[in-house]
Amino acid sequence: MTTPSYPQLHIKRGKEHAVSKGHPWIFAGAIHTDVPIEQYGAIFDIHVPDGNKFIARGYFNGHSQIAFRALTRDQNEAIDQRFFEKKFRELFELRKRFINTRSTNAFRCVFGESDGIPGLIIDKYNDVFVIQIHTMGMELLRKTIVEAMKEVYNPKTIYERSDVGVRKHENLPDEPKGHVWGERLTGEVEILEHNVKFLVNVVDGQKTGFFLDQRDNRKALQSYCTGKRVLNCFSYTGGFSVYAALAGATETISVDVAAAALETAKRNFEINKLPTNKHQFIDMDVFNYIDQCEKKGEKFDVIILDPPAFVKNKASLKKGLAGYLYINERALHLLPKGGILVSSSCSAHVSDEMLQQTLSMAAARAHCTLKAVEIRHQPIDHPFNVQFIEGKYLKYYVMVKE
Ligand code: SAH
Repeated sequence: MTTPSYPQLHIKRGKEHAVSKGHPWIFAGAIHTDVPIEQYGAIFDIHVPDGNKFIARGYFNGHSQIAFRALTRDQNEAIDQRFFEKKFRELFELRKRFINTRSTNAFRCVFGESDGIPGLIIDKYNDVFVIQIHTMGMELLRKTIVEAMKEVYNPKTIYERSDVGVRKHENLPDEPKGHVWGERLTGEVEILEHNVKFLVNVVDGQKTGFFLDQRDNRKALQSYCTGKRVLNCFSYTGGFSVYAALAGATETISVDVAAAALETAKRNFEINKLPTNKHQFIDMDVFNYIDQCEKKGEKFDVIILDPPAFVKNKASLKKGLAGYLYINERALHLLPKGGILVSSSCSAHVSDEMLQQTLSMAAARAHCTLKAVEIRHQPIDHPFNVQFIEGKYLKYYVMVKE
């Protein structure tokens, strides 16, 4: 076998530690480069200056602060269709080891950096596969990736949802979205998650259509819901509410500002044969809804807070944490003693400790104690690779108010 050959870049002396230890990124200031702009996005080999030792192969983009992202540490491995097929197969097998694919047919097949394929997301919704490309390196490999997907997944449809703001950091001009391959989508895709049915709007839904990462947390919620009145804040298409209702919640109230998502929530109740007359779907800002409930003196047995990421970057940390503090404190006013507060954060910039401190402050302000009964994180299809701390993002606390 001939060793594949790629142009070389040299990492600056003393900057090789992180990438040598398995981190996928090299920042712009750490590489010696005079790569012409036409080659941005192409594959390069990274070598250390002393002894010229190879350390990683990946793609380079001089437009991005994250100038290099590693794809392999094996010098004999070419970045071609075979590479992607092999990776996709391995990652699929890993999912199948931990996910019962008879009761769950929707999960994330590829989670970017955390799965060793930086800049690429692939979500499976039954036999529909959604691809999301974040970087120029992946953009240039688009055709190869789609061919490999066809080989490995045998999809009915491949759809693209690269309408994500992060692409601008790569100087990628547009945010492509649309049909890529196979049968055209004519409506929502029905999926099965722990034997619960959901409709997913791949074309116009948020992210790639569904928040797959809360799958196991939604299931775990059920043990707190039997006979209870459950308020689901930031409900989207009613994920937590459907599970709660199936577990015998007497009433669920789903609140979201996305009217279309709430329409889907209603239909998600229907396809699971749940009566919608016992359940409410409220198109309203959660902050206003909570105010309104407080004024009326309403109480709930279980309150779920699963807001969008309040902290999107380091600069918004303070403001975002204040948001988490506010919403948690306000929710506590609607809970009686013994009630359950479920509080989640999907901000990668908010660590476990930061969230815990925020919850502690919220409890102090609401003059109560919060006892954590369950602390959960992201599932196996959104893996946390310990060498890539940036990929650790989901936190989920279940607490009893005392
Ligand atoms: N728990 C959901 C996912 C929630 S995602 C699930 O399991 O599927 C966050 C949701 O918050 C989105 O649906 C978004 O429309 C909604 N949202 C964002 N800001 C909001 C606000 N101020 N009031 C109500 N909903 C809001």
